[in-house]
Amino acid sequence: AESRLVTVRATKVSPRLTLLVLRDITERERVEQMRRDFVANTSHELKTPVGAVSLLSEAIESAADDPEQVRIFASRLTGEAQRLASLTSRIMNLSRLQASDELTEMREVPVDEVLTSAIEASLIQAAAASVEIVRGGDRDLYVSGDAQVLSEALSNLITNAIAYSSEGSKVGVGVKRVDDVVEVAVTDRGIGIPEADQQRIFERFYRTDQARSRRTGGTGLGLSIVKHAVQRHGGEVRLWSRPGRGSTFTIVLPLIEAPIEATPGKRKKK
Ligand code: ADP
Repeated sequence: AESRLVTVRATKVSPRLTLLVLRDITERERVEQMRRDFVANTSHELKTPVGAVSLLSEAIESAADDPEQVRIFASRLTGEAQRLASLTSRIMNLSRLQASDELTEMREVPVDEVLTSAIEASLIQAAAASVEIVRGGDRDLYVSGDAQVLSEALSNLITNAIAYSSEGSKVGVGVKRVDDVVEVAVTDRGIGIPEADQQRIFERFYRTDQARSRRTGGTGLGLSIVKHAVQRHGGEVRLWSRPGRGSTFTIVLPLIEAPIEATPGKRKKK
């Protein structure tokens, strides 16, 4: 009712303004709808681990006389609690990225630094799966951005590449300068993604049937976070994939000039 009042009043001012106001209302409704969907999906996704935590703690209580049973339930409880923790932290990251306020930590970020911290964050998982991470390509490139957000995005791609590959395989992380952008590509020789799913996997909570059956314990939020993080840096994510052959996810970001301190021979005097 309130918005209709605004349009009626605006009509008297000018038809152009009416159009602008209407557009603004539609945009607001779209954002509101997205927010409602997000809350609904999130509550649905949280229900499963929360239910499991409560069932397992009851089970521990009633198995108190049987130490072996208690040990089994407790270890499953730890697993569910960890899953819940990762889910909530990802939900918070995503909603922060979707909020319209500016990223706060913008600076000149060396792409090398983003790779190093993203790879480091994936090393434990890589070791557990005997996957080797092979790093290569151009060095000394810079982007403008939030280093933390960018390296989290890249590490989401690397952890996916590991999770959806077979044990003992290799994951490539390569950097290439192309004109005024940098392409950071994460390549695996894993299960690949059916063509019909390739658009949808960037949606919140979307997981392919194969992924669900692999029990990798994913949240379906990783790629959504990657997409939003990269878009907020004025970039895009590209995907090449073939089922059974593997996938390459490429983050494309606008390059900036290397800061003066980092340019050899142009070092600032202190
Ligand atoms: P998840 O937590 O399930 O990995 P993501 O949002 O990161 O959630 O990915 C969404 C889905 O995309 C995954 O469940 C999986 O089906 C598919 N996917 C993502 N990365 C890969 C990959 N490297 N190889 C095969 N499938 C992938």
